[in-house]
Amino acid sequence: MRRAGRIVAEVLERMREWVAPGVTTAELDELAEAVIRKHNAIPSFKGYPGHPSRIAHPFPASICASVNEELVHGIPGPRVLQEGDIISIDVGAILDGYHGDAAITLPVGRISPEAQRLLEVTEGALYAGIAAARVGNRFGDISAAIQSYVESRGYNVAREYTGHGIGRKMHEDPQVPNFGKPGRGARLRRGMTIALEPMVLAGDSCVRVLQDHWTVVSCDGKLTAHFEHTIAITDGEAEILTRL
Ligand code: MG
Repeated sequence: MRRAGRIVAEVLERMREWVAPGVTTAELDELAEAVIRKHNAIPSFKGYPGHPSRIAHPFPASICASVNEELVHGIPGPRVLQEGDIISIDVGAILDGYHGDAAITLPVGRISPEAQRLLEVTEGALYAGIAAARVGNRFGDISAAIQSYVESRGYNVAREYTGHGIGRKMHEDPQVPNFGKPGRGARLRRGMTIALEPMVLAGDSCVRVLQDHWTVVSCDGKLTAHFEHTIAITDGEAEILTRL
């Protein structure tokens, strides 16, 4: 899982270099897939069936590319990134049967102070969740840490989409919501591997899915952001597997 995680991290590093005004999300997807395949890994998202109601619409790309009000699961395509946009890129890779999964939200050129703050708070929420991911704590402690970090800064978390266990499958039990109560849920044990992924909305928490069956957007059209790491529970601080 460390090796799968490092491939995912490398893809996201390349995305930092490539995201710029004038680039299309399809170009980012092509580059990401090339990095994954260079390592003889498989893009986890490509062909992913997702929810049973979407079985006829497998995800068609190697990254999710979600711009501005698009929260998660955006499909890469001809859209050209514009100065001032923010883009969330989520990527997964399978190596020797094990998964890595991570996401970042990046600025496209110069962005507004409001957008910058949303990115900082969402990334901060991820690290607040990771800090709570310690042996002896419970899953609810992670959820509560993320929720309180976000809400105390005036934003909201998405309720319909969650972090998750990860290993031989991309999505394993348990679900790890971005909201919850401390002291609830199963205890964290050494060796557990989970993907934490705060999805944060500048407006209220209402989201809906577009007619493409995948793209999740904020109902009010306000900006959204998404950061994710795959981590392993250790005896001390969690180990971040999707970091170079
Ligand atoms: Mg995930």
